[in-house]
Amino acid sequence: MFNALKGMLVTLSTTLRKPVTAQYPKQHLPLQERQWGFPALTWDGEVGEPYCVGCMVCVRMCPTQCMSGTMVDNPKHAEGESTRRKIIGDFEINLGRCILCGICVEVCNFDAIEMSHEHEISHYARNGRRVDLPMLLDMGVKYQHESNWIPPTKKKAAVAAAAKAAAPAVEGGAPAAEAEAGEDTAEKESEA
Ligand code: SF4
Ligand code: SF4
Repeated sequence: MFNALKGMLVTLSTTLRKPVTAQYPKQHLPLQERQWGFPALTWDGEVGEPYCVGCMVCVRMCPTQCMSGTMVDNPKHAEGESTRRKIIGDFEINLGRCILCGICVEVCNFDAIEMSHEHEISHYARNGRRVDLPMLLDMGVKYQHESNWIPPTKKKAAVAAAAKAAAPAVEGGAPAAEAEAGEDTAEKESEA
C-alpha cells in the first residue's frame, strides 16, 4: 500500500514538473546565435548583386559534391556599376546531401557564402531539397538581417586597423619606460 502511494506520488510530481523537451515541430526552441544551419549565399546590398563570383572553389572542395554552379560575365561590370567582372549565373546545393561541415564557407575568398540559421527544409522526395540561386540568396539575406552580418574580410580589416591604431600607443609607452629607467639610473648614480 505504502509503495503504491509512493509510486503515485512520483508519477504526480513528474506530471506537474516543467517539461524539459519541446513538442517539435509545434514548438520551437530559440536558436543559439552560433547555430549552424544550411549554407546560403550572401547579397551585396550596396551594388545590388550576389557576392558570389562563381569561382567554383567551394564546389570543388565540398566533400559530398552536393554543390554545382556556373560563372557568367557580369553585365554590371560592363556598365561600370560593379567591380566584379564575373558573377554567379546558376547555383544549386542539394541540402539533402549537405553535411553542414562549413568547408564551403572556409574556402570562399569573397564573403559569398555563410552557414545560415535555416535548418528546417524537409521534403518527401529524395532530391526534393535541391535549392537554387534565388532560394539560396533569400536564405542568405535573411541570415544577414538576423545576424547583423558584416563581410568577414571587412571585419578582419577593421580588426587589423584597430590593432595598427593601438600600436603607436604601445610604442609610445617605450620611451616613457626608457625615461623611467633613465631616471632610476641617474638616482642610483647620485646615491653612489
Ligand atoms: S560561394 Fe565563394 S567559393 Fe563558392 S563559387 Fe561563390 S565566390 Fe566561389
Ligand atoms: S557545408 Fe560542407 S557539405 Fe554542405 S555544401 Fe558546404 S562544403 Fe558541401
